[in-house]
Amino acid sequence: MNGFRKPVKKVNTNSESKVVLITGASSGIGEATARVLARKGYRLVIGARRTERLEALAKQLNEEGGNVEFTSLDVTDLDDVRAFAGFALEKHGRIDVIVNNAGVMPLSPLEALKIDEWNQMIDVNIRGVLHGIAAALPVMKKQGSGQVINVSSIGGHATFPTAAVYCATKYAVIAISEGLRQENTDIRVTVISPGVTTSELAHSITDEGSAKAMESFREVAIPADAIARAISFAIDQPDEVDVNEIIVRPTASPY
Ligand code: NDP
Repeated sequence: MNGFRKPVKKVNTNSESKVVLITGASSGIGEATARVLARKGYRLVIGARRTERLEALAKQLNEEGGNVEFTSLDVTDLDDVRAFAGFALEKHGRIDVIVNNAGVMPLSPLEALKIDEWNQMIDVNIRGVLHGIAAALPVMKKQGSGQVINVSSIGGHATFPTAAVYCATKYAVIAISEGLRQENTDIRVTVISPGVTTSELAHSITDEGSAKAMESFREVAIPADAIARAISFAIDQPDEVDVNEIIVRPTASPY
């Protein structure tokens, strides 16, 4: 008996032993997903650059009876993402799910030529997802099972002014996910496409006009927990059931 931990509230006893990796778990959707999954009894390995936030989150969830490990992670660095997967393997010996959630959204019109920000979006939102696949897929293939959950966006379904590059990265996430799905009949592949959701995502916008437009766009935002529950739904399905895509929008959003 472990005298230091309160008992975990086990909602889904079938899935309690699954090992789930989450990138970008230091805020927003990744953090909310960690909260939902830890409380369901999954074994979590969470990563991001702001490790002080991860440490506080892991501490809180572990005090509630969760099983959460954290490590520093920059998804733009392939070696770092491989080390993240290696850390999970060292701790738990397997990887059942990777949630490639880390993302940035510094919106601006193309004419503003914020080329460094275009590259940052490509590096985090596309390369980061590919790095997650590169790190987890060999492990999953060896196991003969696994699930890759990639976070795209409603911006992966339609393009908006100021969001050309962001949307391009999110279209890419859908294309990569569909290719991965078609190539692997032993791996579940899921795309989660959120609509406007409360998080720190808009903090990366440096273009004044785009930031201002975003303020009214975000008025109808839904809580990050709504997206976390969709991610959890996709994981909770039986192994032969692959939920390929879930779009979760605010009811009040026309986009
Ligand atoms: P947040 O800004 O709150 O979270 C983004 C997360 O990504 C943070 O934990 C951040 O951690 C992490 N991150 C950013 N860059 C890196 C990096 N190089 N390496 C590792 N982690 C990184 O925003 P959201 O929660 O909203 O974003 C999560 C995902 O949801 C993104 O892919 C976003 O595009 C998508 N999305 C969000 C929507 C919304 O309205 N909120 C709508 C549609 C899609 P840290 O800075 O500590 O590294």
